[in-house]
Amino acid sequence: MPDVLSAASPPATSALTEPELPRGVSRARMVIEILVSLIPNLGLIAIPFVSPSVTSFALCAGVMLMCSFGVTVCHHRYFAHRAFKTSRWFQFVLGWFASATGQRGPLWWSAHHRRHHSHSDTDGDVHSPTAGGFFHAHVGWLFGKPASAPDFRIMRDFAKFPELVWLDRFWAVPFLLVGVACYLIGGWAGVVYGYCLGCAIVLQITFSINSFAHLFGKQPHRTGDSSRNNWLLGVIGFGEGWHNNHHHSPRTARLGVKWNQIDFGYWMILFLERLGLIWSVRKTPRPPRTPNEPRPRGSGVR
Ligand SMILES: [Zn+2]
Ligand SMILES: [Zn+2]
Repeated sequence: MPDVLSAASPPATSALTEPELPRGVSRARMVIEILVSLIPNLGLIAIPFVSPSVTSFALCAGVMLMCSFGVTVCHHRYFAHRAFKTSRWFQFVLGWFASATGQRGPLWWSAHHRRHHSHSDTDGDVHSPTAGGFFHAHVGWLFGKPASAPDFRIMRDFAKFPELVWLDRFWAVPFLLVGVACYLIGGWAGVVYGYCLGCAIVLQITFSINSFAHLFGKQPHRTGDSSRNNWLLGVIGFGEGWHNNHHHSPRTARLGVKWNQIDFGYWMILFLERLGLIWSVRKTPRPPRTPNEPRPRGSGVR
């Protein structure tokens, strides 16, 4: 089955020329997008006024599972690093789940993340705790001007697909539909404890990869940056906490490389591969660097 990215020539209607690349958003749109992405956090204010139910906690677990999949498998390992290949229709499904996390669209998310890898812990890194401080790396960078204007030129490989450009602009549609589904299943308790609490927890875990996983943990690989392997974030972050492993070998789908480095995200990828929905999974990490080997530079997509 041909994968969607290595097709010799995509349909003419799907090929965007450089001037058609997504642009940075206006100040007004940036404010609106930040407010929409903050809905789960703002919704937590209602916790004292809404009683939880068994259904609402089940929804919370389901939303956390869905968001974890959307972040680590979709946003990160597929769109940012192309750690496996898939078809065009399933690529759109991955983009839909990525957008449903409330962490903006796949082009926006991955453009910032690729820049993080190519400029780790330097002034060009949009969320480095060593260059900008803990609060900036954790959440503050989202309110700065660079967050609204990522360099979409480094996302040409995906920006040529109009359906992904649409998702990147209207990421709030799948995100808000999750909230509607939670209301229909569990009422307001479903919204507050399922949608808001579930999304907010995964959002904090994602933020923690940018902050804690660059400050606390072990560095088995000399990556030349501050990335760490943090076992707690490795478990609750569906493998994302093995961040030093990841900075060492960014294109590899497997972040937890030892038997005791639990990587739920990789298990999900193996399951999708078994179903035949994805293929060419990059499973073998780069060998450890030799003492004199220069630090690799790049976004980790080639
Ligand atoms: Zn990092
Ligand atoms: Zn990465």
